[in-house]
Amino acid sequence: MDYHNKNLPHLIVIGGGFAGVELIKKLKGKPIRVTVFDKNNYFNFQPLMYQVASGGLGPDAIAYPLRKIIGSMPNVAFRMAEVTQIDTVANKIETSIGAFDFDYLCIATGAQTNFFGNTELEKHCMQLKSIPDALDLRSDILQEFEKALNESNGNSIERILNFVVVGGGPTGVETAGALAEIKKHVLPSDYSELDANKMQVYLVEAAPRVLAAMSEISSTKAKDFLEELGVHVLLNTSVKEYQAQTGELLLSSGQTLQTDTVIWSAGVKGKTIPGMPENVLARGNRYQVDAYNRIEGLKNIFAIGDIAYMSTDKAYPNGHPMVGTVAQQQGKLLAKNILNELAGKPLKPYTYLNLGSMATVGRHKAVLEVFGIKLQGYLAWLGWMFLHLMLLVGFRSRIIVFTNWMWNYFSYQRAIRIITRPFIPK
Ligand SMILES: Cc1cc2nc3c(=O)[nH]c(=O)nc-3n(C[C@H](O)[C@H](O)[C@H](O)COP(=O)(O)OP(=O)(O)OC[C@H]3O[C@@H](n4cnc5c(N)ncnc54)[C@H](O)[C@@H]3O)c2cc1C
Repeated sequence: MDYHNKNLPHLIVIGGGFAGVELIKKLKGKPIRVTVFDKNNYFNFQPLMYQVASGGLGPDAIAYPLRKIIGSMPNVAFRMAEVTQIDTVANKIETSIGAFDFDYLCIATGAQTNFFGNTELEKHCMQLKSIPDALDLRSDILQEFEKALNESNGNSIERILNFVVVGGGPTGVETAGALAEIKKHVLPSDYSELDANKMQVYLVEAAPRVLAAMSEISSTKAKDFLEELGVHVLLNTSVKEYQAQTGELLLSSGQTLQTDTVIWSAGVKGKTIPGMPENVLARGNRYQVDAYNRIEGLKNIFAIGDIAYMSTDKAYPNGHPMVGTVAQQQGKLLAKNILNELAGKPLKPYTYLNLGSMATVGRHKAVLEVFGIKLQGYLAWLGWMFLHLMLLVGFRSRIIVFTNWMWNYFSYQRAIRIITRPFIPK
């Protein structure tokens, strides 16, 4: 099956993330031409992004070249370009490198950080949605330490060394835990002139517990782990306002924290593309799809992964969680369904097979719920590491991650404590 065979139907896939990659892998060598567009030339393994931000891993450990994935697929081509517009009538997309026609379109653009319309928070908070974000955060953390060294005013030092993470989902919990470990192990050795006790990490969560998608026992244990590491966990608390100039972060409890670093991990929303009919937009800025991931009312346009809002799955009437497993399962099934449609066979509806969830707080401290088994502590931590190593794309990435983890474990350090591209606050 040759990409240049114009007699084959043409599928355009927007996004080479968890969903898009699974879709194209399953279409390898099949009677369909596929063009994948992504604004980056790599697949980003987002679950380990907080480790890049905290200096435990380099970006190349979690990013994998899309061309390497596609290289061996005779019917698939990749274009590094941003898709800027979709014309659902003319079956055409506009991109940063020109316009392209399609017979079928699959939108797999994922999600973006949701600041819930607060432009001040959006402007001044750090986020963790892309590799450049992670590198910015890594630089910012180290720059704050460098800044604190040259500050003599106690109040200013407090503000510089207060790190506030907003959102107690897996990303917030893992980032807060990583910061607490930096305080414990990196600050005393690299910045011995600083009083490590002056660094404080806060985790602000609006709900009554962290890791709300997990069981009560895992949530409680994760909070205990965080507090053992010295993180101040503020539950039932939301952010009201942040004045970046004065460093004042006003909380719903009335408390004001002084900080130069607010890390926002309190929500995501779908990453839509202009041109789609307005009536297909559903909750969370996601596209409403039917049980086959077909966008409502559009015969040849599909959405999969974080951007898709499916309410037909009985166990998930409010849509599926925005996680990698849903994206991968939908990608795989859509490949089969497109091939079935081309062959005139019936399509199979999607139902989510929940394989579980997990989060790590720090060394020997994790919570894991898989296949109905609930683990906390050391075993969960080992399980978390094993599963993440298995989920990484490519043998090289696994080796890099494994050796970095071993180094970090035995040295109690975060190997990549370097500011290669200084972060300039807005
Ligand atoms: C910090 C973090 C930690 C996470 N941890 C976990 C975890 O532990 N377990 C878990 O299951 N899930 C986790 N997730 C969620 C998981 O990463 C997402 O659910 C998953 O990536 C969704 O896959 P996707 O294919 O829909 O989108 P993505 O994987 O985000 O891929 C979208 C792709 O589309 C591209 N794109 C977007 N817009 C355009 C455009 N206009 N033109 C061209 N290209 C475009 C992007 O560059 C990207 O490559 C985490 C997410 C984050 C941010």
